[in-house]
Amino acid sequence: MSTTPDSTTTSTTRNPAGGNRRQAVVTGASSGIGAATARKLAAEGFHVVMGARRVERLERLAEEIGGTALELDVTVPESVEAFVARVPECHVLVNNAGGAKGTSSVANADEDEWRWMWETNVLGTLRLTRALLPKLIESGDGHVLTVTSVAALETYDNGSGYTSAKHAQATLHRTLRGEHLGDPVRFTEIAPGMVETEFSEVRFGGDTERAAAVYSGLTPLSADDVADVIAFAATRPAHVNLDQIVLKPRDQASATRANRRS
Ligand code: NAP
Repeated sequence: MSTTPDSTTTSTTRNPAGGNRRQAVVTGASSGIGAATARKLAAEGFHVVMGARRVERLERLAEEIGGTALELDVTVPESVEAFVARVPECHVLVNNAGGAKGTSSVANADEDEWRWMWETNVLGTLRLTRALLPKLIESGDGHVLTVTSVAALETYDNGSGYTSAKHAQATLHRTLRGEHLGDPVRFTEIAPGMVETEFSEVRFGGDTERAAAVYSGLTPLSADDVADVIAFAATRPAHVNLDQIVLKPRDQASATRANRRS
């Protein structure tokens, strides 16, 4: 599929860091889907501002793609404020920072894990979107792409901390579509199934064996697979809004059903 931007979507703007290129912000760009998305958007001609807590990783990527690396903790309002103050203009926001912590039943729910998931996925998306919406609208062709999950569409046992956070994040995102109808801004929800990134390692507190088992016997999506889809959505003509894209490995039918060959 071609990801060539339509000329109607490309407005020239001035940004000290990015020259006349369209400006994209990618949160959680220090690994996985976010890093792959930053690379793809840069290849499509965007100047990409990358945010995450592990800033040294971002700096390496910024050097590679000619982007800007800025420290960002989406759970800390002051950090979001400082980040946004350094983004003079914004055409595309990819709300990608997020993840899961633990697996436990509702009866055994760990409140600290819930707080982490809700702060990162839900309030993080709220903070970045709210802060950048004026700049996105002002750009004349803004676009918010939020990485939710199949966990935003389904529930599964021992996953309610994550599924509830992803449902809430998706609800926030989908609400914006109506609230900004008539404004020059698009909203795309990206809902992936299994993607092999650091996601499961984070979820299982660094237990790499347990993380690897999630993807064993099947071919998961790669971060690049998801980034391709994000870049495709972000480079359609200004009048085309891809509302929701669900992508899963062929080996995965739902959040709880996968075909494992071994
Ligand atoms: P990943 O490799 O663990 O990447 C997560 C990214 O989020 C990292 O760059 C991390 O950066 C960032 N992040 C976490 N907490 C943050 C915070 N407080 N402030 C700023 N950045 C923060 O996992 P991934 O799979 O690429 O996940 C990206 C998104 O895809 C998440 O929203 C996840 O829920 C979603 N998703 C993943 C899958 C999957 O199977 N992998 C499936 C569906 C949806 P720092 O640690 O450096 O801050």
